[in-house]
Amino acid sequence: MKKNDTEQIRAANRADVINALRVFGPLARVDIGQIIHLSPATITAITADLVNDGIVHEVKGPSPSAGRGRPRVLIDLNSHHASVLGIKLSINELRLMLGDLKGNIVAESVVVLKTQTHDQASLNAMLIEQAQRFMSQHPEHAKRLVSLGIAIQGFVDVHRGDVVWSPALNIKNVNLTEALQQAFGCPVELANDANCIAHAIHKLPNYSRCNNFVVIMIGYGVGGGLVVNGAPYSGHFGAAAEFGHTKYSHEGPQCACGRRGCIEAYVGDYALYRDASAVMDLPATDRRHPSERQMQKLTDMAQDGHAYASGLFNQAGRVLGYGIANILALMSPERVVVTGPGVRAYALMEAGIHEGIDEALVPELVGRSEIHAYPWSEDMTGKGIIALALKHFR
Ligand SMILES: [Zn+2]
Repeated sequence: MKKNDTEQIRAANRADVINALRVFGPLARVDIGQIIHLSPATITAITADLVNDGIVHEVKGPSPSAGRGRPRVLIDLNSHHASVLGIKLSINELRLMLGDLKGNIVAESVVVLKTQTHDQASLNAMLIEQAQRFMSQHPEHAKRLVSLGIAIQGFVDVHRGDVVWSPALNIKNVNLTEALQQAFGCPVELANDANCIAHAIHKLPNYSRCNNFVVIMIGYGVGGGLVVNGAPYSGHFGAAAEFGHTKYSHEGPQCACGRRGCIEAYVGDYALYRDASAVMDLPATDRRHPSERQMQKLTDMAQDGHAYASGLFNQAGRVLGYGIANILALMSPERVVVTGPGVRAYALMEAGIHEGIDEALVPELVGRSEIHAYPWSEDMTGKGIIALALKHFR
């Protein structure tokens, strides 16, 4: 074996140890070895290096039973050893989040500003100014900043760092990483918001060993994130997985992307509110961007038995079901996880989802993959982009 190969294996093993500690919290050496399938001697050598580098430290675990016996020695990450900056750019909002080495969000700031009035230069200048202002408020983190990550809705090319199209911007094919990279002198990761969520879910203990799954994010729009063979999959051009813009009908309703009949054009918040407003007496709104309160009200009306509203959610479920059937036929994933703000109405869509799958999918494939909702929290995108940015810490 060449020297380079040995070094690469050592670096990969070290990254696996750090990742196991990030996912499961403090662990005994023997447990780390079992989780990542390495020998006790290898784990001892890696953890000794990590202790020397100040990346981990030993902590006392609980006593084995009722105070008898010696407490186990656990290994824990030093959360203050490194920081990353996560940025979430959405329509007229910039969310800045500081992440520690454990991947926790330790500070956060939300700036309301116009995002759709920029050209490439002014957008980059705005991002740098806001990021620098935020970091200057956290000088201790600024000193140990290792990388940045940006999450945005829409089509992104993660390899180039380009936003191909986003509802948050009125310009296309804009690079978001190079200017920030120069300003901060560290790597910058760009990701679609749904891919961030897939990454965040993969870092949860119950999902960390699930190596082939699909995340469908429903909310303002509909996005998809893939984890394939244990790693996020963004495709050859870095733009996978635009599940929301796969088609349900060639002559369906208008989608935000400009085409007709996309899954999002039935399931996205703006689509549901638009279709409901055409028939129901709903509070006046910017129909292109209904608020959470307005969407909750529409959901409540459907739950209270409003036939038209509940019919819309059932239809959204069927459309999702057809889309999920395509994913199941194509990918055969272990799980399909539905999350995002739109899971507020999952109970109203669930029967439709299964009807859609049963209608669309060859019967032999029905029931193999687990399909379920995951409760939504605003932090998931942030945790995902922080986890993605942390891959640059070695
Ligand atoms: Zn579309």
